[in-house]
Amino acid sequence: MKALAINGGAGRMGQILAGGLGSLGQFSISALIDAREPSELFGAAYASSFDGVDAGSIDVVVDFSSPEGVVASAAWCAAHGKGLVIGTTGLSDEQRQSVEEAATKVGVLIAANYSVGAVLSEKFAAMAAPYFDRVEIIELHHDKKVDAPSGTSIAAAKGIATARAAAGLPEMIDPTIRHTVAGARGADTVGGIKIHSVRLPGLVAHQEILFGGPGEGLTIRHDSFDRLSFVQGVALAADAIDATPRLIDGIESLI
Ligand code: NAD
Repeated sequence: MKALAINGGAGRMGQILAGGLGSLGQFSISALIDAREPSELFGAAYASSFDGVDAGSIDVVVDFSSPEGVVASAAWCAAHGKGLVIGTTGLSDEQRQSVEEAATKVGVLIAANYSVGAVLSEKFAAMAAPYFDRVEIIELHHDKKVDAPSGTSIAAAKGIATARAAAGLPEMIDPTIRHTVAGARGADTVGGIKIHSVRLPGLVAHQEILFGGPGEGLTIRHDSFDRLSFVQGVALAADAIDATPRLIDGIESLI
């Protein structure tokens, strides 16, 4: 059984992961590290920083804190020979550099999306891409999301465009020549793939990739209903990673 420390353990993701990973029977949660006290400890010890952590009781650090927190996790894991799994997003180039340096000393996995379903839907879309003339993406999120389109939809578009190009398909040309209302055809991304963003209360994070060809269509839909959707991907990562130096980007290679 691997012993985990969660940096950002009091946060929304930290608490979900402590409960979710701890209940799999595969991991013990040894420490929750956070500047503020967690509302639930899940049997772990609380530390306000890595200074208060007993290195002997930990195999892997899981980081869902902040970019500054990632730098502290990377330094601590490199110094103590512990694997590191990073979910925190928004790293600067310099912060990313500290992660890459740590990966020369210990195993590090960093992923922008730990949802197994989301990663699978991207894989399926890349498989389908060579066989359909056209594809468009609809991403649907809650009304508190301030950016559009979603990073996940842009990543999906890039994967589809790469698969189309590899199959020798041309860039898609939009057949619409008269735009009665500007923006009706969505945002242009790579390879002529349009992304349409929907924001509504009640939604969480959803995406439909719609393919069309002569006489048939294919829709690949993924729904994230809850932060629990990230637990399985983090478990795969924490299971795969150890002190052996290497850098894995994304969980695609683990699925
Ligand atoms: P949150 O604000 O609820 O939790 C972050 C926690 O980290 C807070 O409790 C905060 O006190 C703590 N923290 C911040 N800086 C710290 C530091 N230097 N040292 C110790 N603790 C520190 O945020 P959240 O919703 O749980 O998200 C956390 C991160 O995970 C964000 O970057 C988010 O984008 C990312 N995230 C990634 C995925 C993924 O699949 N990769 C999924 C969900 C969230």
